[in-house]
Amino acid sequence: MKIFEHPGQTPVQLIDRYEGNIELFMKREDLIHPLVSGNKWRKLKYNMIEAHTLGYNRIITFGGAFSNHVHATAAAGPACGLETIGIIRGDIVEPLNPTLRQASEWGMKLVAVTREEYRMRSDPEFQAELKKRFGNCYLIPEGGTNVLALKGCAEITIGTEKYDYWCVSCGTGGTLAGLLTGLGPDETVLGFPALKGGLFLKEEIKQVLNLAGVSSRARWELITDYHFGGYAKISKELVDFMVDFRKHYQILLDPIYTGKMMFGIADLLKQGFFRENSRILAIHTGGLQGITGIEKKYGINIK
Ligand SMILES: *Cc1c(COP(=O)(O)O)cnc(C)c1O
Repeated sequence: MKIFEHPGQTPVQLIDRYEGNIELFMKREDLIHPLVSGNKWRKLKYNMIEAHTLGYNRIITFGGAFSNHVHATAAAGPACGLETIGIIRGDIVEPLNPTLRQASEWGMKLVAVTREEYRMRSDPEFQAELKKRFGNCYLIPEGGTNVLALKGCAEITIGTEKYDYWCVSCGTGGTLAGLLTGLGPDETVLGFPALKGGLFLKEEIKQVLNLAGVSSRARWELITDYHFGGYAKISKELVDFMVDFRKHYQILLDPIYTGKMMFGIADLLKQGFFRENSRILAIHTGGLQGITGIEKKYGINIK
């Protein structure tokens, strides 16, 4: 499984310096692999190895029509000798959007389920039914979050310097949970949920940490003010910010996750949220594959 054999070390670059001797860095997880991007590479790594070790030849997983996780799984499957099935929330609209078209071209079998069915994705009975229908598959939950994903995400911290703040965008919170297991007590992790419902997310993160049998030594907090109305919702202000960011720093952000997080960090910097003399590390979790679809959906330009 050559795709997951490299150590996954990604560069850290200085973004800017701010009043109060505050420095902002970015860890470029978006550069980890050309197709299996960012945190999805981290989350899939030990799952794909496990599926392979246990002798499965098929992966089944879940996601929305623009899902970075579905896209990453579809890309990783063939590289690991595994077939992939994607259970997609809602209708699969033809012609396929760029995310699903790419996934399908890589051999993923796309199966649309209603939103009601999709809500049962974690239900053991529903999962058993899927396994009956599609053969004995290795099941990866939505967003790739499970105990093995935490193990992969903890590796983001390997070989990095000390930072006072680690900032990460959150969907399911699996990446944040993994980071927590890799960090120490003098580090604070700030999670920026890309969806509404921060309270619920906090419980989910505690739950997956429990499942993994680890407790966090690092402090952590969810910053819930920057979801822009919900998952994949955007505003002109957000788009303008991302375009400016790209022009200024030559780094492309995605509108669903990293754009909102960086907007949030910039806003917090203005508000004087961060301690003086602190070093902030923002993680670019990737997700750039989704830009084209969102651009088309809203008729905007980010790239
Ligand atoms: C999936 C994804 C996230 C969210 O990761 P979780 O582990 O589900 O919190 C953040 N950023 C990007 C770019 C993603 O694709």
